[in-house]
Amino acid sequence: MNNIDNSPNHSLIRLSQAQLNLLELCPPQFQRIYLEQLGSPISPEVQENLLWGNQFHQLMQQYFLELPLDSILEVNQDLKNTVNSLLKAVNEKHNLNFHSWKEAEHYRSLEKDNYLLSAIYDLLIVNKNQAEILDWKTYLQPQNKKKLENDWQTRLYLYLLAETSNYLPEQISMTYWFVKIPYEPQYLRFEYNQQLHEQTTLELEYLLSNLDNYLLDYNQNNIDFPHYKTCETNCPYYQSFFSETVDFNEVEDNSDLLSMIDEIEEISI
Ligand code: SF4
Repeated sequence: MNNIDNSPNHSLIRLSQAQLNLLELCPPQFQRIYLEQLGSPISPEVQENLLWGNQFHQLMQQYFLELPLDSILEVNQDLKNTVNSLLKAVNEKHNLNFHSWKEAEHYRSLEKDNYLLSAIYDLLIVNKNQAEILDWKTYLQPQNKKKLENDWQTRLYLYLLAETSNYLPEQISMTYWFVKIPYEPQYLRFEYNQQLHEQTTLELEYLLSNLDNYLLDYNQNNIDFPHYKTCETNCPYYQSFFSETVDFNEVEDNSDLLSMIDEIEEISI
């Protein structure tokens, strides 16, 4: 099944944070992966990381559903220590009292023009005057906080909650928890406010209006999604798009651009 469904039978196109990231970074790759399903195969190392990430998310969901974890944790002491450290830290940092409502794997969506924007929060904690989005990452805390702040996961998750709840942007936050055996959990927290909300609204509208135009050209005139002039000169993919046979695995370059695209591609598969 297509990751993005733009068939006439479905009036709304579903978009997640991974798709927004790729659309903003590289429209031709967005076309290739989401419209034409031409993603590169994932390496065994990435597959292993994805498997561990999925298992960890399931474990946390089980905990917040109040299901027992003992049988899983007893056979892996390192995992047990890491999970216990994370739960202790989360209980200390967040407003998890008996008045709070919480839900793991909480789904939120919003119709915006022709699109259905959607997100799944690893954990949502709400209190009378505060709503906290938590996300588990199974790698070490990144050095560049700004990059994470600008990631569409942060922008979209905060935006969706502000748009679909009664909480003011100032009452909403998002915290990433970084977990990697054998390190202690670390976190990065992002507070939201009205100014950021307005900024995200404008950025989102700009991106979606571009996508409207790209899809119209693609569907009606068979025109490919455009390249950005600003990245053509240092992009290892750029020339490959003009070859008849494109093998992106043969493109050898360690530029930031390439790794950013690959990162998004891996996450979105
Ligand atoms: S030049 Fe490269 S990064 Fe830029 S839009 Fe084209 S393929 Fe994407």
